[in-house]
Amino acid sequence: MTRGKLLYLETFGCQMNVSDSEKILTLLKGVGYKPTQDPSQADLVILNTCSVRAKAEEKVYNHLVQYKGLKRKKPGLILGVGGCVAQQEGVRLLANVPHLDIVFGTHNLHLLPEMVRAAEEGERLAEVAFIDNETRLDLFPVDDRTDGVSRFVTVMQGCDNFCTYCIVPYVRGREISRRSADVLDEISGMVEKGVMEVTLLGQNVNSYGAKAAGEMNFVSLLREVSKIRGIERIRFTTSHPKDFSRPLIDCFAEIPQLCGHIHLPAQSGSNAVLSAMNRGYTREEYLGSIALLRAACPGIQITGDIIVGFPGETEDDFRATLSLMEEVRYADVFSFIYSKRPETKAAGFTDEVGKDEKQERLDRLIVLQRRITLEINKGFVGTVQKVLIEGESRRGGQLFGRTSGNRIVNITADASLVGSMVDVVITRGYQNSLQGELVEE
Ligand code: SF4
Repeated sequence: MTRGKLLYLETFGCQMNVSDSEKILTLLKGVGYKPTQDPSQADLVILNTCSVRAKAEEKVYNHLVQYKGLKRKKPGLILGVGGCVAQQEGVRLLANVPHLDIVFGTHNLHLLPEMVRAAEEGERLAEVAFIDNETRLDLFPVDDRTDGVSRFVTVMQGCDNFCTYCIVPYVRGREISRRSADVLDEISGMVEKGVMEVTLLGQNVNSYGAKAAGEMNFVSLLREVSKIRGIERIRFTTSHPKDFSRPLIDCFAEIPQLCGHIHLPAQSGSNAVLSAMNRGYTREEYLGSIALLRAACPGIQITGDIIVGFPGETEDDFRATLSLMEEVRYADVFSFIYSKRPETKAAGFTDEVGKDEKQERLDRLIVLQRRITLEINKGFVGTVQKVLIEGESRRGGQLFGRTSGNRIVNITADASLVGSMVDVVITRGYQNSLQGELVEE
């Protein structure tokens, strides 16, 4: 019996890339590739990349160097790069990395099966053309997986906001929304196969439909999704604070399946920095939205992103960010040191913060956030949480799941509970997770 062709797929970066990787697996299954966790066994290695920060991009180049040795040992191995680094670099990447076979951009996933076939014949090729109309979102395979209870569903792609530090509008293209009828059909199909939770995905989900003539807006889409029989949980990401409307906040009070968690990136707590970033809201407006969210959904867990050391950020600006974090009390924060990205407006800003200073600020921020996260996690002890059990935990012999607020919970329970919603009493709060016990009927 032949083992068939094996694909090793590495995913870098955001949930959008995780979702794209799921599509890549489905597309390549259609041309005979099965996933493997072992790159040395693979016939095809694909890196699905992120270029949002310079560090993420460097990581991709380092990985490509590592694959050179594997390719020498196994000359038939096909090596491909997709995602934002591929989009940004295009054919340059093929020229710079002689052992690379395929480069495919963020709008070209659907071409991958053809490209892999051509690479099997010995061709080296790059496809990075943008498709800036709604046909782009019709080009993906239907998700036919039957395992698991939770799915990402892309509802829109691209971004028109042009925050001055961000490369996304250049590597993901302009904002395009999928037809709501297609989104609702896809989710109904998933629910029929046992999916209980969906996360609606987009670079800027709250502006869903805004630029599509005759299309419903994001609030209406959420309400329609909640009417699908069998849907137990709805999440969405990423939201932009400037588009976080009152009707959307009301959804947290009115839609029972909408989870008590929101990822709302502030990026900074200083109005001067927010303005230089072109974020389109002030600290006060951001905090106003948080207060309304907490009133609509008491106990809602809030997570965010913070950039440290944006050009011109003073010590006072940075302290304003720390005080914002204290006020919001984020459950978690993804924090990053600012790095220049090609093509962006901020790449031309000259008032840079020193490297050591940036690092020192990031360290202070991390210490603060770790304290807040631990306090929040310990605060759950003694409460009963509804947990959707997703699978086996990395802690041996346990299962893991998530609360409505997206906190990870480990419990000792029978594997037959995977895919069930159960009541769990929280017994311990750790830095990165909660420990719980099943509430017996
Ligand atoms: S909203 Fe700003 S940070 Fe987010 S993807 Fe668009 S440009 Fe980038």
